Amino acid sequence: FARNAGETEFHQAVTEVLESLGRVIAKRPQYADNALIERLCEPERQIIFRVPWLDDSGQVQINRGFRVQFNSALGPYKGGIRFHPSVNVGIIKFLGFEQTFKNALTGLPIGGGKGGSDFNPRGRSDAEIMRFCQAFMTELSRHIGEYTDVPAGDIGVGGREIGYMFGQYKKLTNRYEAGVLTGKALFHGGSRARKEATGYGATYFVQRMLETRGEGFEGKRAVVSGSGNVAIYTMEKILEFGGTIVACSDSNGYVVDENGIDLDLIKEVKEVRRERISEYARLRGEGAHYVAGGSVWDVACDVAMPSATQNELTGKDARTLIANGVKAVGEGANMPTTPDAVKLFQEAGVLFAPGKAANAGGVATSALEMQQNASRDSWSFEQTEQRLATIMHNIHDLCAETADEYGAPGDYVLGANIAGFVRVAEAMDALGVI
Ligand code: NDP
Repeated sequence: FARNAGETEFHQAVTEVLESLGRVIAKRPQYADNALIERLCEPERQIIFRVPWLDDSGQVQINRGFRVQFNSALGPYKGGIRFHPSVNVGIIKFLGFEQTFKNALTGLPIGGGKGGSDFNPRGRSDAEIMRFCQAFMTELSRHIGEYTDVPAGDIGVGGREIGYMFGQYKKLTNRYEAGVLTGKALFHGGSRARKEATGYGATYFVQRMLETRGEGFEGKRAVVSGSGNVAIYTMEKILEFGGTIVACSDSNGYVVDENGIDLDLIKEVKEVRRERISEYARLRGEGAHYVAGGSVWDVACDVAMPSATQNELTGKDARTLIANGVKAVGEGANMPTTPDAVKLFQEAGVLFAPGKAANAGGVATSALEMQQNASRDSWSFEQTEQRLATIMHNIHDLCAETADEYGAPGDYVLGANIAGFVRVAEAMDALGVI
């Protein structure tokens, strides 16, 4: 850990995986040979770069850009780009590390990577967003490509930002290389159901997990944190499965709606007007109220879907949720639950779906977008969603069966870590020491 001093989130992600590996090494000691585990924890390449851009007042602004190309044993590096002021190398490394196992779980030919910048898009004009995306891509373009590294969106990066980055890539390279980015608009070779995929996928996973106890979302109260891409489409699928959403949030506070969240209004506030979640309560009126600050996990529910950011659900929150009778927790975000909270859920017998398995639907559909680009084809929404549902069911079953095989039935964390590790380890081993 000394080599990665101060990279708290990276340490946290690596520790969780390594804690799961004792059982697999005991059974298959060859996986510890040739420093394979040490190699897995060291990114293949880390790129840090200056991003200079002009704001609307003509001032030059400087941000820091990152791309961590973590592991390409199974395919080109693949993982999102995050624009958020909290971004640093430790955050990008934790995300790239997680991404490597997640991508392996999908069974699709993609390696793991992640990127981003400490740029804060909040309050920036559309023109500023465009100039920043162009400046970011000016450097990133040297490092990516259909066969090398294929970024997508993440926090602060949605369809608009991917469009600006794709435009700049195309201009710089003079190549219409649709396969270089995913999450594109349909007319640039984007995939139907990509926008919905992470949230829908997490919901498919949790539904299947509930089914192991003879239950489903039908009639259940759910709380979803965040109100961004993952949160919105998690809510949409839960509603389709017959559940009710009672609360969602942003980084300033949360809204509770005893009549059930009105998803059309959430979309209007967040996707069209790009406003804060407090605006939802104001527009919705009776039955809905906004709580500034606080924790959305104080709201009683049967299913909790943390879908905002890392370490947003703490031990204290877990105790509250358990006391309120929560039955299942599904991580839409990456590592949103702190390690002590995960332990509390597992000890209380709450079904717990870790992000690297439950939120793999986004990247899986990105890989389907790459398939469509490679064959210059465009699939229907139904066909793509069907593929997504099948992939999520397979990931669920793989995690459950692996947990059984290693003597920890129902432990999806262990199952996901071991199943992902075995796929990456076998691929790395077969490539020799490189
Ligand atoms: P968005 O930017 O669309 O939405 C993020 C949401 O989380 C916003 O509501 C935001 O609120 C909130 N949020 C962000 N940072 C914080 C913070 N520090 N504290 C509290 N709330 C915060 O991002 P996505 O929905 O794309 O991503 C959400 C999570 O899902 C991330 O962990 C991401 O890595 C993960 N993920 C995303 C995938 C995708 O396909 N997009 C795929 C797999 C995982 P505010 O507006 O106030 O900042």
